[in-house]
Amino acid sequence: MNDCIFCKIARGEIPSSKVYENEKILVFNDIEPQAPVHMLVIPKKHFDNVTECDNETLCAMFDAMRTAVRNTGIDKDGFRCVMNTGENGGQSVNHIHMHVLGGRSLQWPPG
Ligand code: 5GP
Ligand code: ZN
Repeated sequence: MNDCIFCKIARGEIPSSKVYENEKILVFNDIEPQAPVHMLVIPKKHFDNVTECDNETLCAMFDAMRTAVRNTGIDKDGFRCVMNTGENGGQSVNHIHMHVLGGRSLQWPPG
């Protein structure tokens, strides 16, 4: 059994604040929110990052993201999706995840 933290969240072994879930995907609130809405979209199956993940799973992540942004209402004013990847990308959890940030105006470029 994989002891990756997001695999444990996907299996329900670590509690999370769920926003949306289907057979393949879980959307839950980030534990350290950087915006009024800060969700993480993960596949339940483990992939290290976006370069490792198959296209079907990526599509399922984007589909779940669109449902979650509609459910939270952040689609009206806009939002940002980010996949930090690898060391330079600032990835701290090596289970692919899409950050979805909204509810405030976001700056660009990131630091
Ligand atoms: P990364 O830095 O890899 O792009 O993003 C990892 C994210 O996971 C961070 O924003 C961090 O706050 C979040 N995170 C780490 N551990 C947990 C946890 O146990 N529960 C939740 N809900 N979020 C977590
Ligand atoms: Zn994992």
